[in-house]
Amino acid sequence: MDELTEPLTQGNRRALSRAITLIESTRADHRARAVALLAELPQRQALRIGLSGTPGVGKSTFIEAFGKMLTAQGLKVAVLAVDPSSARSGGSILGDKTRMETLSRDPNAFIRPSPSRAELGGVARRTRETVRLCEAAGFDVVLIETVGVGQSETLVAEMSDLFILLLAPAGGDELQGVKRGIMEIADIILVNKADGDLRDTAMRTVADYAGALRLLRKRPYDPSGFPKALPVSAYTGDGLDKAWANMTHLADWRREHGHFDARRAEQARHWFLSELRAGLLARLDAPQVRARLREIGDAVARGDSDPDSAAAEMLDWLGTTPAQRLQE
Ligand code: GDP
Repeated sequence: MDELTEPLTQGNRRALSRAITLIESTRADHRARAVALLAELPQRQALRIGLSGTPGVGKSTFIEAFGKMLTAQGLKVAVLAVDPSSARSGGSILGDKTRMETLSRDPNAFIRPSPSRAELGGVARRTRETVRLCEAAGFDVVLIETVGVGQSETLVAEMSDLFILLLAPAGGDELQGVKRGIMEIADIILVNKADGDLRDTAMRTVADYAGALRLLRKRPYDPSGFPKALPVSAYTGDGLDKAWANMTHLADWRREHGHFDARRAEQARHWFLSELRAGLLARLDAPQVRARLREIGDAVARGDSDPDSAAAEMLDWLGTTPAQRLQE
């Protein structure tokens, strides 16, 4: 058994942090240890909540207030991030440690910034594994935060039980700004900043989105009324309890009707294929393979082979079982 397994399953935060660092490492021996560790962890289930919103809508403020409300109820809350900007530049929008200051000092909360990696797929894969670690460590709720850029929302939705879209109050024409695809994956739209001068605009925005959501195809796996739009204020705390009640209601309903487990099963199948695809791509980086790639690539460049038959030849060569290759 890995030395991290026991303390991690007892909820030791240092062990959890070390396990996450292990999972984020690109070293081959670390990867092997991480895979073995993940395999021996107990299966525990947290409610995985994906949360997306463009910079400025109030994600950190919301998570801080919402997280504190949950920890006050005795729930253990982990906050993770999938940040596409960290994948591109190494810099991060969501990784700033000074965000969510109070929540980060809460013994029932655990906050981990986005892993920075060369590509978004890699960031998402490691975050998905970190979700499993947090579940094994006994967290009740895992919030996975992302900014609405590129594919990050889809990737986060694929590792979440519920997907929440956080919006700011805005005029009706801005409704166009939310991509249809995102509306379709959102289970609950929360219009933040429904306070003070912004309250009226927020209520109109809620009505606009409620109308837009009604136009979408009804989902067979949801109770009536979902997906829905609700107002919240991360500042005053108004609406946070109602938002949570709706999340748990939706999750409970899906559990009772078998949709919760069905969705996780589909996600597991998806991640298996995605992990396999990533593994196959990584194989192209092995020195032996790179040499062969260079050879065949040179032949293509010289005009001795065309790209299509060269690719077919390379695939054939890769498809050779390792045992056969050793005999060559
Ligand atoms: P993020 O970029 O999505 O993480 O957004 P932040 O949490 O940093 O908030 C962006 C700005 O919106 C800040 O100036 C916050 O003070 C403000 N803000 C966040 N939540 C609320 C809210 O509930 N009401 C009001 N009026 N302002 C808010």
